[in-house]
Amino acid sequence: MTKKKLWTVWSDGKVNREEAALLRNKAADIPVPFDPESAKCIKALMDNFLTRDDALGLAAPQIGISKKIVIFKNKNFEEKGRVKNAQDYDLLVNPRITQKRGEEEVASEGCLSCPDISVEISRPTEVKVKALDQHGRKINKRYTGFLARIVQHEIDHLEGILIIDHEGALYFPKEKEEFFKKIFSKEP
Ligand SMILES: [Zn+2]
Repeated sequence: MTKKKLWTVWSDGKVNREEAALLRNKAADIPVPFDPESAKCIKALMDNFLTRDDALGLAAPQIGISKKIVIFKNKNFEEKGRVKNAQDYDLLVNPRITQKRGEEEVASEGCLSCPDISVEISRPTEVKVKALDQHGRKINKRYTGFLARIVQHEIDHLEGILIIDHEGALYFPKEKEEFFKKIFSKEP
């Protein structure tokens, strides 16, 4: 399966400065009603996500589109392979977390844009989100548990926040220690 290009902060032992800069951008709101350009961006993210078998979720900046669109599995997280049914994923445009509830829980997160590492991140276990669906209709959602974590991770991307920006233990494979020690030692 050919995978579509994905923006990453690093790859093959080097930092990708331009891609990292884009990933760090705050994404722009999609104008309402959607214009043809926005509709194209929404479709591009959906197509990319639906042809991948390695993503729980994807945010538009990860494919080089600095706009507020995210897509993610809403069930069957353990299942490998592509998402086939429209009811198995959520696509949110201009999502906004309106409420965070529940105790914070720490869990390990990975990200396709930060390959080979995971970070232990503390997040609330329940969030309420206001957004638009792919057709521009207003939706209100409540997410709990693991799904609440995924949503917060994807919305972080729209703010230019990556897993490495969170405080928490960071893990990487021993054989790549030299590279990661080098890049993370530069962080303040
Ligand atoms: Zn991510």
